[in-house]
Order: sequence, then C-alpha cells, then structure tokens
Amino acid sequence: AEVVLDVRDLRIYYRTLYGYVKAVDGVSFDIKRGEILGIAGESGCGKSTLGNGLILLKPPMKYMGGEAILDGKNIMALSPKELRKVRYEKISIIPQYAMDAMNPTKKIKQIIDDLLHEHGESFERKKDVIEERLEIVNLGKKVLNMYPIELSGGMKQRMVMVISTLMNPDVLIADEITSALDVSSQRSVIQMLYEMREKEIMGSLAFITHDLSVLYQIADKVMVLYAGRVAEISPMEDIIQEPLHPYTKMLLSSLPKIGVRYSQTKLKGIPGYPPSLLNIGPGCRFRDRCPYAFEKCEQDPPVFDVDGRKVSCWLFERGDAN
Ligand code: SF4
Ligand code: MG
Repeated sequence: AEVVLDVRDLRIYYRTLYGYVKAVDGVSFDIKRGEILGIAGESGCGKSTLGNGLILLKPPMKYMGGEAILDGKNIMALSPKELRKVRYEKISIIPQYAMDAMNPTKKIKQIIDDLLHEHGESFERKKDVIEERLEIVNLGKKVLNMYPIELSGGMKQRMVMVISTLMNPDVLIADEITSALDVSSQRSVIQMLYEMREKEIMGSLAFITHDLSVLYQIADKVMVLYAGRVAEISPMEDIIQEPLHPYTKMLLSSLPKIGVRYSQTKLKGIPGYPPSLLNIGPGCRFRDRCPYAFEKCEQDPPVFDVDGRKVSCWLFERGDAN
C-alpha cells in the first residue's frame, strides 16, 4: 500500500534551563494507507512528544530537524495558516488528556460548528455525518446541546473521537486513549476505531500506548521507542513470536498472558530506568539495562534491516553478529 506519512530522522527537543532534552532524537518510520501502527514504550520514551509534535509544536518543544512528509509536504515546516488546514483534514489527534480537550464555555454543537467553519464547512451541511459518527461512538444526539462539563469522562473522550475525525483525516493519532479505561471499555473504544477505519473515516491510525497487550488487539505493525529513539519496528505478529531488540523482549516479558515462545527467565525483572534525556551522550541508550551489552554499544547503533524488520542494536549488524 501507498505510504501516507513518511517520517525521516525527526528530532524534537525540549529547551530547558539546563540544556536540551532530546525527547524525539532521530526517529524514522512510515505509515501506509489503511495501516494501524502501534507506538509502544515506557512513559518518557518520546511517544507523546512525537504524537503532539506532528500535530502542533508548542514551546518548550522545539523542532530540531528531519521531516514528516504528508501529501508531498513536510508538515514540520508549514506556515501557521497551512498548518490550520492540514490539521483535522490530513492529520488529527485524540490527545492523551482528551477529557480536557474541549472548550468548557461552549456547547458541543458550537465547538463542532467553529471547527467546521475553519475548514469551510458548517454544522448544518455536515449534520448527517455528525449523527452517523455519534452513533458509532454510542452517543445520543442530545449531547450536541450539552456543555463538555455535562458529559462523563468516557463520553467526553468519545466526543473528542468524533471531533478529531470530522474532517476524515488521512492519519489519526490516538495517544494513550485506552489507558484510563477498564478492559471492557478498552475493547469498545478499539471496536469504534476499527469501525471508523472500515468506513474510511480515517485513513491510517497511529495508536500510542505503553500497553503492548492493547496493541496486540489492534496494531498491524509496532514501533517500539526507547529513550527518544526507535528500538524496533516489526509486524505485530513478529514482535510477539520473535522480538528482536533486547528492549522489546523486556517489554514482552512483562506480558505473560500473550503466550510468548522464547525463554523469559533471562530478561525478567531487569532493574533500572531509562536514562535522562537531558544532554545525553552517544552510545546505545539501553546499554545500562541491557544484559547483552558489549564494547561496541558505546557507539550509537544504526537501524539495521533484518528481513524487512528494523532493529537498532549492534547484535544485528550484518555479518558481525556471532
Ligand atoms: Fe544491548 Fe548493545 Fe543492542 Fe544496545 S546495542 S540493545 S546495549 S546489545
Ligand atoms: Mg504520554
């Protein structure tokens, strides 16, 4: 399938008094039409910075280089005016704290109407579409006349799902939208996203979560991030059957229920935390926690291609891995 979003060597840092925090530091990946890309990793690995940075860069976030090509244009380098058009129409986000994402002083209908006007549409002209969308997320029409505060947390989140997909974006980013939910609500939100994709309401989906067991239910392909860099990008099935990067193995070892085939004993309970991303130096960022670390790991590992999978680890250097 055609590549919809092509991200190359993207760098997004935070400027602080003490230097740069390299939150997204040379990340490359693509999303194809209709594909569901899972973005996984511990908190602080750069998942949300990546998602938010692709939609709207706000200080102290700073775009430091690389590109994100959508529809032939680098969306990181658009003027504010161009960006307003691209957002919602080409790329959209259901943010991590979706429950607070709506203007509390306006009724839902007004919030929708304002957004549609910015894109040359109106509530009246889109009425049928809006009602169809409300149905998908199990909200009655009466929410349109309510203020956000009158909706429960779950209803607000589903309302944001409707709003962020109103203009049928090519790429929808969902940031930790199942994390605060119980298992059955998680399942229904995933079902709703599937239905939206079936109906081609959005083209492709980037689903961000720290929870691999959720990705197992939804993702075609997974990108595992560690400390601002790509550790591995592989089809979901391969991640489960044969994780390649030592960090992917570690993430999986905390998920016995998926039924992985490799020995879990070696990696279970690796102590430690990701490194601070402030003024971080060269070398594999996982090396302090990696049971396989060797001399070479003092240098940055490039991303190796292993049968079409991507792995950033010296163990997979062609011809040199034992
Ligand atoms: Fe471990 Fe070295 Fe691979 Fe990093 S490059 S994951 S430290 S073996
Ligand atoms: Mg986050």
